[in-house]
Amino acid sequence: MDPQIEVPASHGARLTIDLAAIAENWRRLAAEATDAACAAVVKADAYGCGLDAVLPALWAAGCRTFFVAHLGEGIAARRILPDGVIYVLNGLLPGFGPALIAHDLRPVLGSRAELAEWAGLSEAAGRRLPAALHVDTGMNRLGLPVSEALALSGDPVIARAGIALVLTHLVSAELSGDPVNARQMRAFAEVRAAYPGLPGSFANSSGIFLGAQAHHDLLRPGYALFGGNPTPWKPNPMRPVVRLEAAIAQVRDVAAGETCGYNGRWRAAEPRRLATLSLGYADGYPRAASGRGMALVGGVRCPILGLISMDLIILDVTDAPEATRGASATLIGDDLDVDAVGRAAGTIGYEILTGLGSRYVRHYVRGHDA
Ligand SMILES: *Cc1c(COP(=O)(O)O)cnc(C)c1O
Repeated sequence: MDPQIEVPASHGARLTIDLAAIAENWRRLAAEATDAACAAVVKADAYGCGLDAVLPALWAAGCRTFFVAHLGEGIAARRILPDGVIYVLNGLLPGFGPALIAHDLRPVLGSRAELAEWAGLSEAAGRRLPAALHVDTGMNRLGLPVSEALALSGDPVIARAGIALVLTHLVSAELSGDPVNARQMRAFAEVRAAYPGLPGSFANSSGIFLGAQAHHDLLRPGYALFGGNPTPWKPNPMRPVVRLEAAIAQVRDVAAGETCGYNGRWRAAEPRRLATLSLGYADGYPRAASGRGMALVGGVRCPILGLISMDLIILDVTDAPEATRGASATLIGDDLDVDAVGRAAGTIGYEILTGLGSRYVRHYVRGHDA
């Protein structure tokens, strides 16, 4: 789909994604570490923003290396970017080899079994198929333990498996003072020394802001590209990318003592004016934000009342004179950024982004009119 094409507003809600902001965020992150190249992590459909639109925007900004989680995501990315370098973070699952090779995808290998299997596939293919080596410096999730990586450093399997990049992943990058960051830096420096000549990749979005020691050769930001705050300890340096707006379907006045929504979870202590939005949890707005989230109507913060329904949200618009039938309310945007919505739902902005639905109109823009 051409991201410029406008979709008629057949839905009661609209998700606007600013591709220029994504490109600008990539350039800002790349500029944080001029000695390192900057990749883009675009797993989970580019953090919910849509691979089809996001990949060409990142490519045009100058990004050449991409990370996805799954083989299927890699295949989708390859269709869009014939010349990009694409790594599959979740690695080589049994049976994935032929499709990885057919689509020129690079698995991130994290065990001796994966290394041996990929080396065998390379040999059968008669050429060195590139891959990355994942070293586990503290996550205990994916990757070779440091001791095993050190032991394997001179082993011919590393060359046979076409290892072209060594990477590790931070446990607590967004907690800049956590001592685990320094421990992982030391462990990764030791691994790098054992693999001279191979480029290294260490930093996710928040890791980029942990200083030069965290940069190595290739940055791997995801969340910050899409407007999330990589530095929760200070104001967000990224441009916002996502805006979610829903139309007001009805406005009503309730008397003191009345309730609203399922199970009457909210009760008016005094007369209030309520507005019902044409958007609910089935659109990706988290039900866990019931009674805690907010929306903006004409710049006024309006609390979400009671339980969020599948297709509807009720707001208290008593203080928002612009709340009339057909007016729009902003659920994500302005100071209600993805981090704030995540907090209101007891989760993180990452989950808000990756949960964005497809039930509303998606509108891609290239500029400030988001
Ligand atoms: C998701 C992921 C990233 C990107 O992390 P952000 O915090 O979104 O920047 C980088 N590396 C690995 C291994 C990942 O799984």
